[in-house]
Order: sequence, then C-alpha cells, then structure tokens
Amino acid sequence: MTKTTRETRRKKRIRTRLVHAGRLPFEQHGFVNTPIYRGSTVLFADTAELVAYRAPYVYGTKGTPTTTALESAWSEIAGAADAVLAPSGLAAIALALLTAAKAGDHILVADSAYRPARVFCDGVLKRLGVDTQYYDPLIGAGIANLIRPTTSAILTESPGSQSLEIQDIPAIAAAARARGVCVILDNTWATPLFFPPHERGADLAVEAGTKYLSGHSDLLLGLVSANEQWRSKLRATFDAFAMCPGADDVFLALRGLRTMELRLREAERAGLALAQWLERREEVACVLHPALPSHPGHDIWKRDFLGSTGLFSIILKPVSREAVAAFLDGLELFGLGYSFGGFESLVIPFDCASYRTATRWAPGGPALRFSVGLEDIEDLKDDLDAGLARLRAVG
Ligand SMILES: *Cc1c(COP(=O)(O)O)cnc(C)c1O
Repeated sequence: MTKTTRETRRKKRIRTRLVHAGRLPFEQHGFVNTPIYRGSTVLFADTAELVAYRAPYVYGTKGTPTTTALESAWSEIAGAADAVLAPSGLAAIALALLTAAKAGDHILVADSAYRPARVFCDGVLKRLGVDTQYYDPLIGAGIANLIRPTTSAILTESPGSQSLEIQDIPAIAAAARARGVCVILDNTWATPLFFPPHERGADLAVEAGTKYLSGHSDLLLGLVSANEQWRSKLRATFDAFAMCPGADDVFLALRGLRTMELRLREAERAGLALAQWLERREEVACVLHPALPSHPGHDIWKRDFLGSTGLFSIILKPVSREAVAAFLDGLELFGLGYSFGGFESLVIPFDCASYRTATRWAPGGPALRFSVGLEDIEDLKDDLDAGLARLRAVG
C-alpha cells in the first residue's frame, strides 16, 4: 500500500480526505488508528539533543503524536496553514482572541456571537485593557465604518448563536484586510465541511469540537486553525498557555472526524425535513433555518455555504409560558439540554433580549432551538406533534 500525503489528497474529495488525513499507520506497526499517547516527560537520546530541545516531541504540553494527528488533519480539512487544540470551544475562542488582541486595542464582536464569548470579552479582555464593541451581525461591508486605528480583531459567527443570522464573511474579511485587522470566525455550526473558513476570508477559525466533530456528546474540545499570516502567532500563543486537551478526548475527536461527513449530511437532511415540517404548523410563527428560502440570510447562505446542519430555531406564535413548558416537559425523544451535534435530539427555549446590546431581539413569541439527532425523523415528528397538542391545550 502506498501512503497518501496531504499533497496527493489535495485532489481527492472530502470524504476520502476525512478517512486518510492525520493517519500514519505504518509508523505505528500498521494499526489503523493513531494510538493514545499519554505523557508529560519525553526522553532525549543524549545531552546535545536535550540542550538543543531538538526532537520531534519534547514535552507533553507541546504536543504528542495523538494531538499532532488531529492538528494536522484539522488544518488540512479547514484549508489552513496550521491548527492547535484547546480543552473546550470557549477556550479556543479565548485563544484566538488573545492571539490577535493586546492592551489598548479595540475589537469588534458580532452581537449574535456565542454568549460566553461575550463574558470573556467583557470580563477578562476588559481587565487586560481591550475594549469590545458589539456590532449588528447583518452589517456586512458596513463594518468598515466601525474599524478604528486601534481595532485589532473582528469576531464573527455565522449563523449566529441561537438566532441564526447569516453574516457576510467575505465582505467583512475584505474590509478587515484593507485595514490589517484579524478576522476570527466561530465556524462551529457549519464546520469546515460546509463553510471553508480561510477560503472565505477568515484569518483564524474556531471550532467547538464538542459539537459535530465529537458527534456523541461525550467530550469537550476546541480547535483553532490559522492561515499562513497568523500561524506563528497562533502557535506562540498556544505554547504560552499550554491549554491542552486530554489524550482520550483527542482520540475520540479523531474517530469522530472519520464519520463527520456522513453525520453532517444526515443532520442536514433531517434538520431540513423537520424545519420544513415545523414551518407548516399553525402554532409556529417562523422557522430560523438558513437553508430555507424564507430565511433572511438565505441568499448569502446559498452563495457561501456548502450545506446546512441540524441546528435551527423556531419562533412560536404568542402563547403562555405554561403552554411552552407543557410542550417541552412532555417530550419523550427531545432532551432538554445545552450543546448540540450529538446523536440525540435536543431542544432549549432561549431569549437573546437580556444580553444583546447592538441589536434588539423582539421575535414576538417564544423562541426554541432544536438540534436534530439521528433518531427516525417520523418518530421525532410524532413527539413534536404530541407536544404541540399539549401546547394548544394549555394555550
Ligand atoms: C458550544 C459552542 C462553543 C463552545 O464550545 P464548548 O466546547 O462547549 O466550550 C463556542 N461557539 C459556539 C458557536 C458554540 O455553539
């Protein structure tokens, strides 16, 4: 068997690349999967090598063959120059922001960004002398008007957390590049399979591997990929923090990577089917799913994305809090819980009004976010159908 290389894989399709990226079976006795290397100490052959710090691996925090396998695979899949790992998606966001921002800087953050990222900006970054300004995620090229001489980074996320606004990333990236500003994209929803982050203009791309990369709700992981311009700064920041994920979690993420395309395609199919079904229900005022023509960001989604995933939201027609609780509490298959991208379906009620500052969230009815899992879609519809009957009964 001749081994594939990143170069030979470049011409191959994504499913093939997901199978082979980051794997070196013949460097591990032929075993298909990269073993779990645990370790702090790495032994050097002699004093000269130790003093020079010259060896493929030098210390556990700097990387192991297990972490290198995921970093190189992810970098390849994301179309990046390099990638580093973090123990959670939020840690990956922090790492990206700390790679780009310094004391005295101004940063722009999408009002629809993952809420805990705001807590990091408003707390830690503020304390370090970085001033955060939130912007309307629909701003597009208009972002140019908000860029100041001190602006060092723009945090984007498309679609936005919970409310799923689609951002014009290429337009924002063009405005940022003209002013030397780092564009960070939280690409967790689409993953690089459905939105090639660096090709679309992101300098740093964050992924919560906790979600679709894991696919099984059994680990926490973050990844940050960088283009050529930002790779050394990202690596230096990563080395300075040594925020390393555990070896078992990295191994599970590598396993998840092999089947990610299949799971995403199924999430896309089921998510869209359920979104369309909900769109026809009289209890539902609107469905926020970017792959539906009714979504305000649909045209940009069609232009920039290669697919959609199983996470979307709905706005119910006005009903009481009790009616929503009756709907949710009686569900048999949809779990009530945070996160998404696992094999099990989830739903949460949400309300962005309390924390958004650059835009006003007033949907006119209760909002729910669904993550569609791998259950049979007809059973999921039955579960929701019964739930909507309970909702109507309470009113
Ligand atoms: C879940 C999520 C994160 C954070 O990931 P954790 O691993 O849970 O910290 C970041 N960004 C987005 C868009 C997410 O959905």
